[in-house]
Amino acid sequence: MGNKIIIAIDGYSSSGKSSMARALAAKIGYRYIDSGAMYRAVTLYAMRHGMIDADHNVDTRALTDALPDIHVDFDVTPDKQYTLLNGENVENEIRQLPVSNNVSPVAAIPAVRHYLVALQQAFGTEKGIVMDGRDIGTTVFPDAELKIFVNAPAETRAERRLKELQAKGNTVTYNEILANVKQRDHIDETRAESPLRRAADAIDFDNSAMSIDEQNAALLKLYNDTISC
Ligand code: C5P
Repeated sequence: MGNKIIIAIDGYSSSGKSSMARALAAKIGYRYIDSGAMYRAVTLYAMRHGMIDADHNVDTRALTDALPDIHVDFDVTPDKQYTLLNGENVENEIRQLPVSNNVSPVAAIPAVRHYLVALQQAFGTEKGIVMDGRDIGTTVFPDAELKIFVNAPAETRAERRLKELQAKGNTVTYNEILANVKQRDHIDETRAESPLRRAADAIDFDNSAMSIDEQNAALLKLYNDTISC
């Protein structure tokens, strides 16, 4: 096997990029890092410490001061990866709608981004990594050897998210999810600090008409094409 590379997978909320990234990493023996989980964990910390009000306004000063006390990491087991917030497994809690509704304002805070981007870059020092997010190909790893930009219409993404959450026993409605997906897209695209943007050298990947197997196979082919050239 040749040299290890960095694979950056960016895209809109609920585009399926995490599942694709995880499947590719498992297939090729790379480490998978879900950068969105890191923003979600910081959001959960802020919520628990009363730093976010009911209108999703974040106490930027308090959260910025608290950042050195917020340790985000991952616990990897053979079949799953758990997000750790100061050593606590918060994997389930960070996926719930209250965190989803607060995460984009938290992720728009420059100090939060600088803090997490540095952690993300540290995960990539030895390459052999697949990371998914919003700014991986533009800001975290601008030199990544393979960059993918995943997209699908908001309605398709909301349907998928609804099925995922319902399968876990959550009672949420399609309209709630669609509103959350659109709201996050808007905040992510319009924030001043590293907004969601397709890197100029990213490959567009519209998976709306693909099955999971098809999208995994297409991504594996892109990886194989990259390492063979
Ligand atoms: O990927 P996921 O939907 O779990 O990400 C949650 C939120 O974290 C996004 O809506 C976005 O606001 C933020 N995020 C980000 N930059 C990343 C990853 C996620 O701003 N690299």
